[in-house]
Amino acid sequence: MAGKPSRRLDAVEPYIFAEIAARRTAAAARGLEIIDLGRGGPDYPPHLEAMEELAVEAADPANYGYTSYAGSPDFQRAVADWYERHFAVRPAGTVPLSGSKGGLSRVFMALCDPGDTVILPEPAFPSYRSAAVLAGLEIHPLVLRPQNGWRPLLTEIPDDVAERARLLYLNYPTNPTGATVERGDLEGVVAWAAEHDVLIVYDNAYNLLVFDGPPLSILSLPGAAEVALEFHTLSKAYGMAGLRAAYACGQSTALDALRKIELYHQAGLFGPALDACSVALDQGDDYVAGNVEILRRRRELVSGRLDAMGWEHTSPGGAAYFFLRLDGDGDDSAFCRELLDTRGVVLTPGSAFGAAGAGWVRLALTRPAAELETALERIARFRDEHGA
Ligand code: PMP
Repeated sequence: MAGKPSRRLDAVEPYIFAEIAARRTAAAARGLEIIDLGRGGPDYPPHLEAMEELAVEAADPANYGYTSYAGSPDFQRAVADWYERHFAVRPAGTVPLSGSKGGLSRVFMALCDPGDTVILPEPAFPSYRSAAVLAGLEIHPLVLRPQNGWRPLLTEIPDDVAERARLLYLNYPTNPTGATVERGDLEGVVAWAAEHDVLIVYDNAYNLLVFDGPPLSILSLPGAAEVALEFHTLSKAYGMAGLRAAYACGQSTALDALRKIELYHQAGLFGPALDACSVALDQGDDYVAGNVEILRRRRELVSGRLDAMGWEHTSPGGAAYFFLRLDGDGDDSAFCRELLDTRGVVLTPGSAFGAAGAGWVRLALTRPAAELETALERIARFRDEHGA
């Protein structure tokens, strides 16, 4: 049959956030007032001077040609300066990315051959798993557990898996749990990776969005530059998800491989977008601190409301998510579906983040306080009626 999807594509679940978006549109069409705490894009405005830079540069017709594959020299410098300021390390090179999702997905193809083993955390951002499946890889899940603060317990990785694994993905602050990681834990991960010859792919998407301590880059640890590739994005801390701007730094042969595969998939970022990113990275420290404060206040609000509901919960140390356990390990997909269909509140089912997320739901702090309060009132009534 013409146009029949590949077996490879058939092996991947339908993309959960697109499905939820369609359901949300249908609920809105039925007249429900929607409060979307599902998708993880922040609602705060971007850095003002970065937007102004974008507007000025976008008005110049000279800026509509192809740009350098390497990004502008100024973008490269801005990334290196930003790293140095926040993490006291200056990476040797940077690969600009049109959003980090694509780069994190293509790393599998750049660094693995079909049948290779990769270790992926669970629960985690669903793109890792689907991209690894599309690349024909064998996945060993590293299950993260609430009783361990969602930290990576590498002792649980069997020796034979450690010996043959090519990559270990990690993401802290973590989507979907909001957990952060201690420096000591990461030192252990770096030592483990060096011992087993495994590359760490460290997704630092929420980089500066940390509430209780300094932000952490794996590349700031001794020895990490030999075993880790780190990804950052301007989608979260800088509120520019629609601009699609991100970058990777780290281990040089892996970075070269990523650079090469990106050459075949993208043709440089929009020049004015790169200029806007440089401005945000150079001048946006106070702006980001303001965003952290916004999220911190929302975290306190939600925490208080959940306590009042008697709903056991963990509080995020970073990122912008609460991960909430349903009573009796209830059906998280049914819970989210019904909550959206009847109350207009969008949450994300934990099972979207892998089997280890089943029985949980994710609440994103991506709406203003008043909407969060209304959403929590609706959720409280829904739970009372459903005994969830
Ligand atoms: N990593 C994580 C953990 C995420 O949550 C997201 C977005 N939700 C991304 C990567 C991708 O971000 P972007 O493509 O916008 O850079």
